Amino acid sequence: MQYKVAAVSENKGRINAFQTFGTLEGPGIRFVVFFQGCALRCAYCHNPETWSMQEGTSYTVDEIIEKAMRCKPYFGDTGGITLSGGEPLLQSAFAAELLQAAKARSLHTAICTAGSADLCGARGVLEYTDLVIADLKFTTDNAYRKYCRGSLQTVLDFLQLTEEMRRPLWLRQVIVPGINDTPEDAATLCGVARRFSNVEKVELLPFRKFCLEKYANLGLPFPLQETPEADAETMGPLLEVLGKCRF
Ligand code: SF4
Repeated sequence: MQYKVAAVSENKGRINAFQTFGTLEGPGIRFVVFFQGCALRCAYCHNPETWSMQEGTSYTVDEIIEKAMRCKPYFGDTGGITLSGGEPLLQSAFAAELLQAAKARSLHTAICTAGSADLCGARGVLEYTDLVIADLKFTTDNAYRKYCRGSLQTVLDFLQLTEEMRRPLWLRQVIVPGINDTPEDAATLCGVARRFSNVEKVELLPFRKFCLEKYANLGLPFPLQETPEADAETMGPLLEVLGKCRF
């Protein structure tokens, strides 16, 4: 599909940081744009510095595209640009404009999102998105509300939209000991993945506490301070369940 280069726009997005050689946010080498602002408050969040919409720096689409294009020689056949955060869908109009500009320059585009978003804005972003990497944080509404201050249904509605728009979908979940670390939890996650025909893979990420210093510097308590990290013993049985999951 051909994408037009939009006229120069003065719209600005609030950005927390850039990463030039990301390898975790999609296929190949990625230029990652970390958006500022998130409405959720996940108990295990590693990026609390991205929460506030008052922080960050303003950039235009052209300023960001220029940075991304400097990395293009390293993208090869699979790499490209990924919008992460924070929550990129919180600035959906800007995110859509940015991805449209990226598509016009033949860049592969991905978003890393919690999917807790206004569907109308999300539709505009998905229009220009080649791959959606969605954090399905928990599989019960109770856990969503308790540990993220979000709603499971909102995320399921977003996943439904990605299916309707036929966007390839990777699901991710952070495994937290004592919260979502049983084989039954993994089986439920598999069940959710099977509901969406566009799921290409499901990844489990072990809970880690590398963020303690960030919380201390921000003067924020880390809610899972006493929770142990997820070790191989925790992850093994869950990966086994997921390995047998056919989606
Ligand atoms: S959605 Fe991401 S950035 Fe927002 S609170 Fe949760 S982990 Fe942090």
